[in-house]
Amino acid sequence: MPPAGVADFWRISERWRAAGQGCPNRRQKLAQKLGKLNLTGLARLDGRPARRHGAAMSLARFDVAIIGGGPVGALLALALGKAGLRIALIDRTAPPVMQSAAYDGRATAVALGSQRILKGLGLWQRLAEAAGPILDIRVSDGRSRLFLHYDHRSVGDDPLGYIVENRHLRAALATEVAAEPAIALFAPATVTGLAADATGVTLARAEGAELRATLVVGADGRGSLVRRSAGIAATEWQYGQTALVCSVRHDAPHHGIAHERFLTPGPLALLPLRDPHRCSVVWTERDATAAALLALDDAAFSAEMQARFGESLGRIRIEGRRWSWKLGLHHASRYAAPRLALAGDAAHGIHPIAGQGLNLGWRDVAALAEVLVDARRLGLDIGALAVLERYEAWRRPDTLSLILATDGLNRLFSNDVAPVRVARDVGLGLVNRIAPLKRRFMRQAMGLAGPLPRLVRGEVL
Ligand SMILES: Cc1cc2nc3c(=O)[nH]c(=O)nc-3n(C[C@H](O)[C@H](O)[C@H](O)COP(=O)(O)OP(=O)(O)OC[C@H]3O[C@@H](n4cnc5c(N)ncnc54)[C@H](O)[C@@H]3O)c2cc1C
Repeated sequence: MPPAGVADFWRISERWRAAGQGCPNRRQKLAQKLGKLNLTGLARLDGRPARRHGAAMSLARFDVAIIGGGPVGALLALALGKAGLRIALIDRTAPPVMQSAAYDGRATAVALGSQRILKGLGLWQRLAEAAGPILDIRVSDGRSRLFLHYDHRSVGDDPLGYIVENRHLRAALATEVAAEPAIALFAPATVTGLAADATGVTLARAEGAELRATLVVGADGRGSLVRRSAGIAATEWQYGQTALVCSVRHDAPHHGIAHERFLTPGPLALLPLRDPHRCSVVWTERDATAAALLALDDAAFSAEMQARFGESLGRIRIEGRRWSWKLGLHHASRYAAPRLALAGDAAHGIHPIAGQGLNLGWRDVAALAEVLVDARRLGLDIGALAVLERYEAWRRPDTLSLILATDGLNRLFSNDVAPVRVARDVGLGLVNRIAPLKRRFMRQAMGLAGPLPRLVRGEVL
């Protein structure tokens, strides 16, 4: 639960804005006082001394406070920090824990558009060695012989995207964040409350000392405290499905082909890693079956996977441990409020059926960074609702179309009714033959559709 009264703060500041007034009440005076506290003794909770940014830093005042140092929050901090804004990046998890191999066993399908963002911000140089190019995508429906085949050569010379293990992503982000002088990292540090007023936001932390920023960005994932604190509602539902995640070794090389096999309980994806004999697996099952599968030993688990996937990669065996995620969808009704923006999973969480959730979040980063940097250049207030609404209007259509696509695909392929099965297999076969339609889907999956932010176009911020 958010602390009592915090949601009211946003409503109150909305009223100030509407009335074009200053900030006349007691709460704002308190927030201003907190903002002026001299926090020169502030220590970074990762054990290293706090970075200093001159006088402004000694007041613990920032242009932007980003709550959540996951892949979205950390990338946004880099984009804004490199553009000259002073950033506080706050996460409740200590960096060494976040970077450990046990923390997050997933691999991310990085779309070409996202790769350009990572390249523009100096991260791709650290990741290229670890990235497996996706040359083809093969989509099949259970045991049907009809399938959809996407070949990267039909849209250009570049791969369709890359598979990167999240431990590499997290390590590269942490190294770049540590090297960027404009970012002060507070981790582990838990934000417990927020108070917005006409000039900024004051953040309360479980650890004590408050921080003050012109704008707060919630990049704090599903169940975002920032979203709830601002009283922003979300549409959400559960799929009753669990994604099992692991890595496998297989006898035959994968040739850069990403396989997605749609089965009635959910899709089984084998995604090509850098090593030609290793894939990352995202295997979706109904919750109860997933729990039973997790209880199997490695040999039995591998055999179950092999039975569903078939023999095209030769013998498959699991390598290392397994992880699981309960799947659901959520979408915030707003991405912006006065002095507040939401990005990544704090704003939207989709089914991983198309490997697009983080790509959406990184496109949020590219758009929000562009809007804020442009506003700063023009001398505008980066926390003003009018500025933040530009970001919201830019990003909602992309998210909504992916919500519809992923939710629709999951429902369509989970349906075992014979006429539906036949219709969708015919559909797969048809799309496979209609080159322009296929190219359109491919450009969408590559994150290259719609109005693109400068970072996605490969330009500087
Ligand atoms: C099985 C699976 C496979 C996936 N595969 C892909 C894929 O191939 N491609 C793709 O694009 N997407 C994929 N996704 C989606 C992707 O993983 C998420 O969209 C992404 O992790 C969201 O990142 P984020 O930074 O927004 O949120 P998170 O990763 O959830 O990070 C939020 C951070 O906020 C911190 N935090 C939360 N509350 C507080 C607080 N009060 N104070 C301080 N810190 C706080 C947390 O510690 C955390 O570090 C997949 C998802 C799943 C479940």
